This record gives sequence, C-alpha cells and structure tokens, in this order.
Amino acid sequence: MIPITDPKSQLEPIMDDIVREVEHVLRSGRYILGPYVKRLEEKMAERLQVTDVIAVGNGTDALVLTLDAFGIGPGDEVITTPFTFFATAEAISRVGATPVFVDVEQTTGNIHPSNIEEAITSATKAILPVHLFGLPANMDAIQKIADDYELFVIEDACQAFGATYKGKEVGGLGDAACFSFFPTKNLSTVGDGGMIATSNPEVAEKIRSLRAHGSVQKYYHEDIGYNSRLDELHAAILLECLQYIDEWNQRRMDAAHRYMKQLEDVPWIGLPETTGEAEHVYHLFCIQSKDRTELMRRLEKDGIQTGVYYPCCLHEQKAYAHLGHKRGDFPVAESLSESMLAIPLYPMLSKEDQDYVIETIQKYEEDTQWFA
Ligand SMILES: *Cc1c(COP(=O)(O)O)cnc(C)c1O
Repeated sequence: MIPITDPKSQLEPIMDDIVREVEHVLRSGRYILGPYVKRLEEKMAERLQVTDVIAVGNGTDALVLTLDAFGIGPGDEVITTPFTFFATAEAISRVGATPVFVDVEQTTGNIHPSNIEEAITSATKAILPVHLFGLPANMDAIQKIADDYELFVIEDACQAFGATYKGKEVGGLGDAACFSFFPTKNLSTVGDGGMIATSNPEVAEKIRSLRAHGSVQKYYHEDIGYNSRLDELHAAILLECLQYIDEWNQRRMDAAHRYMKQLEDVPWIGLPETTGEAEHVYHLFCIQSKDRTELMRRLEKDGIQTGVYYPCCLHEQKAYAHLGHKRGDFPVAESLSESMLAIPLYPMLSKEDQDYVIETIQKYEEDTQWFA
C-alpha cells in the first residue's frame, strides 16, 4: 500500500543526528523550557521575521492561547472557514467566543474574502483564515477588510510551514500566526507541538505567561492560564528538522508539479489550483472527483491509500448544532467536502510509487463503464 503520507521516511536519513540530540537532552537533565526551546524560538523568529515566537504544547493550544491573549472571549465573534480541521473553530469556542463561518473559494478551498464583509457585526473581533492544505489564503484582501473594520488577523498556519505569499513566508502576515508540529505536518516532531509567531510584544508576553499558568514570576499568577509548553525533546528534534524543511517542501512541490503535469489531461478529476501570489507547500495533494467514493474504492483496491479532507464541514458538525446552521448554508464548502480526495504525497515519495499512482489513475479512463 502506498500511504498518503509517511513522516518516518523523512527522518530516516537524519536519524543518527536526531538520536544524538535526544540523548543530549536526556543527559542534560533540563526537560521543560530550557535552551533548546529558547533556540528554536529565536531561530523561528528570525526566519519568520517577527519579534516573538512562543513554543507551546500543540497547534490547537497555539490558537486558544493566541485568541485569549488578544482578549477574545464570551460575546465576541471570530470569522473563519467551515472547511478546515475542527481545531480551528474549536479554539474560538474554547475561549468562549463564537465562530462565524463564511463560505470558501471553489478553486482553493480557502476562505473567500468577498464573503467576509457581510458576516461582520459589532461583536466581530478577528478574522482567522486557514492556509488550507499548505496554500496561503488571500491575505491582502483579508488584511484590507481587517484594516477597514479594525479587526485582528490570526493565521492558522498549521498546514503551511514554509509557504509564501507574495514572497513573504506565512507566519508573519497577520497580527499573529499559529503552527502545529503534529507528526504529519510539513514541519513536525514525533509527538505534539506548536508555536505562535507575532510582532505584537504585549500579546507575546501574554502568551508566554498563559502557557505557564498565567505566571511571569514563578508562583505569582496574574491570569488564569494553561499548562502548554513545548518539551525540550521536541524542540531538539524540531531544530534538526528545521535544517531540512525547505528541501522537504521543495520535494513536495516537485512531486505536486509532476502530478499536475501528468494528470492535467484526465478530464474527470480536478487538480489543486494556486493563485500566482501564493506558493503552495502541499501539506496535502487533494484532487476533486464527482464520483469520489468509487475513485477511493478503486485506488484502495489497487494499493493506493487515499484520505478525505474533510468529510463533514464544521457548520454540519454535531458540536456546532447550537449555531443553527443547515445544509446549503455554505454550498461551496459542502461540495468540496463531497469531492475532495487526498492522494499520496510526501517528501520521500519515490518516483516509482508516484508513477504507479499516476498510471493507475490514467488507466481508469479506459474503463468507459465507470468513466461514463
Ligand atoms: C493540525 C491542525 C490544527 C491543530 O494542531 P494540533 O497540533 O493537532 O493541535 C489546527 N488547525 C489546522 C488547520 C490543522 O491542520
């Protein structure tokens, strides 16, 4: 079976270095908020061209702590996309605010800027775009609306480490950005991890305090906070991986471009689109098919793993029944949730395996019964 993703394969060539760093942490006796976390935060801030990076326990916490640090809570609304991983909206709800969904772009699956303005009310505090599957959202249009209405822009960059928008890396495009280092993300560790990037010093200080029980000086607490810190072990592993992330992203892009070239003549599937301004780092390579169920069944039978991202939009989740949405509220997101299918793509995907995926999909075309 060719998997859709394979995090271990990219660690294999650098395993000795990782083991050495892990051993170094183990022998150091310093396990929480030590020198590795500090170095990771400094390196990230330099790379993303922000003043502050704060490493936390996971990407979901990164979102929660950021919303909290901006003072967003009960009675507030945050505009976001219904076509994303649940954590995006969950974080908004977790701080007591209400997620307000707006429909997405048909071509990219990202939040559609022209739907944002009509969703703004006096309670709106922020816009939370997601750089879906590794493709930056239309940040200029989003920022323009945010400026006009004095809203914060918080990037959910969990799927898009290293992606650029008009030549600038995601993470430094809004008021703050949240990342996840979950094992399948482009830059990842072997467990949970996350971080926030911001150039707002007050927000940065607040998040630093919130991640450690709302405390700046130990045992004195200004806020009701959280316990959400990145471990030294994960920071050490991430520092190793950070040296290779651009190469890994390039491999993802090369593989994606091969798919695009080889599959462009297959009339019954839709391929991911980019905007020209945004560089896609292909966290996932999602095609669209009207008969997704049948395509999945065939690919799995032929030894190719597929994945559905996402089978149920957030406005249709049980957890959000209280928002009172119904089928048809966000038709584009709903149609994407029925047609999108991820096929294998990861940095170490071999040319042979990729060729097999391509040939298998092309071969289905000869099967006129299904194709018709
Ligand atoms: C993975 C992900 C998150 C959550 O990150 P965790 O580290 O798993 O908590 C949030 N938003 C998006 C878009 C994600 O893909």
